[in-house]
Amino acid sequence: MEGIFFRGLWTTVILIIFTGAHCNLCNDIQLYTFPKALDSRTQPIAATSVEAGQLFERSRAGSDIYKNKAMVERLKTYGVITSEKVANVIESIDRALFVPDGNVPYYDSPMPIGYNVTISAPHMHATCLQLLEENLQPGMHALDVGSGTGYLTACFALMVGPQGCVVGVEHIPELVSSSIQNIQKGAAAPLLKEGSLSVHVGDGRLGWPEHAPYDAIHVGAAAPKIPQALIDQLKPGGRMVIPVGTISQELKVIDKDLDGSLSVRDEISVRYVPLTSREVQLQGV
Ligand code: SAH
Repeated sequence: MEGIFFRGLWTTVILIIFTGAHCNLCNDIQLYTFPKALDSRTQPIAATSVEAGQLFERSRAGSDIYKNKAMVERLKTYGVITSEKVANVIESIDRALFVPDGNVPYYDSPMPIGYNVTISAPHMHATCLQLLEENLQPGMHALDVGSGTGYLTACFALMVGPQGCVVGVEHIPELVSSSIQNIQKGAAAPLLKEGSLSVHVGDGRLGWPEHAPYDAIHVGAAAPKIPQALIDQLKPGGRMVIPVGTISQELKVIDKDLDGSLSVRDEISVRYVPLTSREVQLQGV
């Protein structure tokens, strides 16, 4: 745990030096997420100090698809991305369109997006895409609970394509509006326009029955326990990836067999913001 803490602290220090984001110190330490798998084998997937400075300059100037590609290469180098399809999708969706101005979009860290929440780190997005890849085949249905910036929702939509169906559910209306604007600027815009991708205001603990059952369900916030509605809306043969826990959290992979029985395994230890009510989230407790 200490190793995780000091590596998290070091990346936070680099981030602060190159962004001047002093006010985010507590938030970043509190919300820093790092997979066990990486912890034992590798260093954090971070840009070098010089690179981070360059990225910041670029982020102020706008998006930079080449830096997005470099981020994908780093994730491949460190073994987070092993699938070509996932690599192509992450390359196609420029992360800078989803990260608020003033942050380093391609840096491997969660970043504040307002309303007491963060956009997850690139390695967590990549990890979840990989875990769900088989259930994000063309034509399949996917649900993204706690869709936030819309980044992963857009990635899912590119995976399943125009014959598929992807639904994002987010309980902060302002985030839903901004996520739609983010998606409209990038590669998933036609899917949003055609209607195979949609984002809705709602309590994600209830899922989104209208387009159920889902081949893939992703939950971007930590639930104290797995919501029954999400289990019910998972298709036989489907997979859900959900962080579960409060102080200590595990990213759980839940497979529903064709006979409806469930198998559950822990993938990695994580630190996500809570899946909770809007009121509790806005109080920041
Ligand atoms: N995956 C997203 C956001 C991660 S932060 C991204 O990377 O951009 C978790 C998100 O879950 C936040 O946007 C938060 O507002 C949302 N959330 C938390 N509880 C929720 C609930 N009960 N219903 C819907 N959204 C919820």
